[in-house]
Amino acid sequence: MSPTNVIVLGAGMVGTCTALHLQQRGHDVVLVDRRGPGEETSYGNAGIIQCEAVEPYPFPRSLSKLLRAAFKRGGDVNYHFSALPVIASHLARYWLHSGPARYPAIAQAYGRLSDQAIAEHTPLIDAAGAGDLVRREGYRWVFRDPASLETALRTAERVAPEHGLRHAALTPAELAQAEPALRQRLAGAIDWLDPWSVSDPGELVARYADLFVRRGGLIVRGDASTLRRGVTGWGVLTDEGAFSAEHAVVALGPWSDTLLKPLGYRVPLFVKRGYHRHYTGGTGPTRALLDMDRGLVIAPMKRGVRITTGAEFARRDAPSTPWQLTRAEAAARELIDLPTPVEHEPWRGARPCLPDMKPVIGQASRHHGLWFNFGHAHQGFTMGAISGRLLAELLNGDSPAVDPRPYSPSRFD
Ligand SMILES: Cc1cc2nc3c(=O)[nH]c(=O)nc-3n(C[C@H](O)[C@H](O)[C@H](O)COP(=O)(O)OP(=O)(O)OC[C@H]3O[C@@H](n4cnc5c(N)ncnc54)[C@H](O)[C@@H]3O)c2cc1C
Repeated sequence: MSPTNVIVLGAGMVGTCTALHLQQRGHDVVLVDRRGPGEETSYGNAGIIQCEAVEPYPFPRSLSKLLRAAFKRGGDVNYHFSALPVIASHLARYWLHSGPARYPAIAQAYGRLSDQAIAEHTPLIDAAGAGDLVRREGYRWVFRDPASLETALRTAERVAPEHGLRHAALTPAELAQAEPALRQRLAGAIDWLDPWSVSDPGELVARYADLFVRRGGLIVRGDASTLRRGVTGWGVLTDEGAFSAEHAVVALGPWSDTLLKPLGYRVPLFVKRGYHRHYTGGTGPTRALLDMDRGLVIAPMKRGVRITTGAEFARRDAPSTPWQLTRAEAAARELIDLPTPVEHEPWRGARPCLPDMKPVIGQASRHHGLWFNFGHAHQGFTMGAISGRLLAELLNGDSPAVDPRPYSPSRFD
């Protein structure tokens, strides 16, 4: 395709990488966000480029796990009763897609994106001069319960060779030696050696955005909801005036469905909200730890040790109910010293999720020049770079690096 103008709506990890890849293919790109780049979901995550996350989180199907979630026995899941009528149909489809008939194909499609995650972030990190933010030494799943360690090890041994991933099991003594800050002896750990972790996820997006500007791209503040179809393409109003282009890409993360509804697209997006808070003054872990039995991450970051929580099923904009963070703090304090919280109020964000657990990447079915790139759920920070490349290849008419059919927006028509 000959170079054209493109408006990319949303400057999170996904939109910023999309803008960079379109620009690389010669397109004239304007990146529009109502905030600065990387200040929403892409700011508040656990910062792990999770190439080991080759299978998405399925809806629990065993009775014991369902009861645990329903009665909020673990800290990993919370839900608002008031949200259930709104999201019930999405959850029912999520449950269906998590069954043995559909999940394996979904996991295969998911894995094709995570397999490329590191390779696609590498040139961007290098070109953006962001190597100082990235630790390339893997991260650690820690276990309190020997039975859950055994189950996870079996999964690791199945997926690692299929996806060319390296992992190592640590005994309780080896874990204690590797993590001197641990206050108690745990059942053991699995070290994933290939993932990377980022000390300031929002800053990585901001550096990618700086790279986009250095290469001639334009970033403007504006409200994506002003997007309108014109005679020759799409227009949006920004603080710097109106912009029009032949193509518009919706990369608004958890806000994408709000924009698309008036255009007639009923994408079944729902959110799994999450919280974080930083702590200073203690000795943190040597690398990011995922406490597999409590569903929280303890990640050493620039602002301190960041504790992130599991999934809260709620309306996207409902007031915060940081009960999970309270539980996560208590669980983390069993493991390490966390003397001083940095923020008064915890940060809250929303993972953009689809019932079939796959992102939506590709051209809208009923509008020429409208493109979607959102719905990356638990791994959008990981998959942003490869998703940006895939969208740019499709828009440009190139042969795509990954078979795009599983992510097609038309699956919801
Ligand atoms: C607690 C937690 C931990 C996580 N940990 C990880 C992890 O370790 N690894 C990983 O890979 N993923 C992780 N994730 C998931 C990951 O953060 C998300 O999948 C990813 O950030 C989504 O990126 P995005 O660009 O799609 O959305 P966002 O980063 O939210 O970007 C969307 C952008 O759209 C803009 N926007 C919205 N509405 C408008 C509007 N009307 N006008 C203009 N602009 C608008 C917003 O300002 C925002 O900048 C985690 C998520 C959470 C909540």
